[in-house]
Amino acid sequence: MTNMETHPPTASRQPSGPGVSNAGIRTIGIIGAGQMGNGIAHVISLAGYDVAINDLSEERVAAAMATINGHMARQISRGKLTEDERSQALARIRYAPSLEDFGDMDLVIEAATEDEDVKRRIFQALCPHLKPEAILATNTSSISITRLAAATDRPERFIGMHFMNPVPLMDLVEMIRGIATEEATFAIAREFVSSLGKTIAVSEDFPAFMVNRILLPMINEAVYTLYEGVGNVEAIDTAMRLGANHPMGPLQLADFIGLDTCLSVMQVLYEGLADSKYRPCPLLVKYVEAGWLGRKTQRGFYDYRGKVPVPTR
Ligand code: NAD
Repeated sequence: MTNMETHPPTASRQPSGPGVSNAGIRTIGIIGAGQMGNGIAHVISLAGYDVAINDLSEERVAAAMATINGHMARQISRGKLTEDERSQALARIRYAPSLEDFGDMDLVIEAATEDEDVKRRIFQALCPHLKPEAILATNTSSISITRLAAATDRPERFIGMHFMNPVPLMDLVEMIRGIATEEATFAIAREFVSSLGKTIAVSEDFPAFMVNRILLPMINEAVYTLYEGVGNVEAIDTAMRLGANHPMGPLQLADFIGLDTCLSVMQVLYEGLADSKYRPCPLLVKYVEAGWLGRKTQRGFYDYRGKVPVPTR
C-alpha cells in the first residue's frame, strides 16, 4: 500500500454528504471545542454527519459554534457554500454536556489540549460510556498513539487521526496506527476520512509523526534565531516568506498553531527521541509561561489586539 491516498477531485468541495460512511459511521463525538475541535466539527457536519461536541464548559462550545458559523459565512461569500448547506450543517451539531452523551456514537475524536495527562483522564472517563464497537480517535500532534491507546479499554479500536489547522482549508489528515490497532479499524477510519474529501498520509507511530517532526524543529529554530538576536520577528518571517517561499513566516505560523502546542510537541520530540537537537528554545518556554500563546490569546510573537498584528520583539 502507498503512504499517500488522494481523494477524487469532486469530493473536495465538501457538499452535504449522505451522513453515513460506507463503513457505517453516522454519529461522531468530538472532545475539545478549541481551534481543532471546531474545525473538525465544521468539516464533518458539512459532510452530512451528526456531531456532538463536549468541552469543559458550555461557553467554550458556544464560542466554537460562533466560530464555525463565521467561517461558514466566509465560505458562502466566496461561493463555496449555500445558506441552506450552512443551516443544515449547523443543525447537525449539538452540545454534549457530559461524556455520558457519547454512548451512541460510532466514532469519537479527541481534540483536547495537547497534554498526555489530560488526554488519559478523558479516555478513562469516556470509555465506560462507549458502545463496544465504537472507534476512538485522537487528533494529537505528537503523543504516542500506542501509549494513549493503552489508557483505553479498546487499543485495537484506537487510531491517530491528525487533522491540520485550519481543518476546512487543509487537505491532509495524517493517519497513525498504534501497535494494537486492528486493520478493520484502520480501514473504517480511512474510509471515513476519505468521505470528508481529505487526503491521507500514513505515518508510523513515532514522536510527532511526519508533519510536525519536520515542521516544529523549523519553528523552534526560528525562535532560537530570534532568541540569539540574529533577526527580529519581522525580519525572520519576511526572510522565510520571501526567501523560502513559505506562505507564512515561522513565527506567524507558531502563533497560528498555538505556542503551548508548539512547546508540547518539542517536549515530546526531545523526550521521545532523546536528542538535544530537539531542545525547546527557552524563549518559547518564556512566552508560554507568560500566557502569550499566540492568536488564541491575542498575543504571541505578534500582538493581535489592534487592527494589524504588531511584532512583540
Ligand atoms: P485549543 O487550546 O484551541 O483547544 C483545546 C480545547 O480542549 C479547549 O477548548 C479546552 O477547553 C479543551 N479541553 C481541555 N481539557 C478538556 C477536557 N478534560 N474535556 C473536554 N475538553 C477539554 O487547542 P487545539 O489547537 O484545538 O488543539 C487540540 C488538539 O489538536 C491537540 O492535541 C493539538 O496537539 C492538536 N492539533 C493542533 C493543531 C494546531 O495547529 N493547533 C493542529 C493539529 C492537531
